[in-house]
Amino acid sequence: MREGIHPEYHQAKVVCNCGNEFVTGSTKEDIHVEICSKCHSFYTGQQKATQARGRIDKFNRKYGTK
Ligand SMILES: [Zn+2]
Repeated sequence: MREGIHPEYHQAKVVCNCGNEFVTGSTKEDIHVEICSKCHSFYTGQQKATQARGRIDKFNRKYGTK
């Protein structure tokens, strides 16, 4: 492989919307992401909780539980 044909590869600092920062290998120096592995599980967990709540509401409406 010839040298100089590949972009420079550095340690990129990735900053997430949730405030989490981590370092990864990339051709970019700084990366901003909206979602990372740290808040992704939190986010999907929240979604599941919302879905579960919706099901309970439906159940309560159907059977008239107050
Ligand atoms: Zn995050």
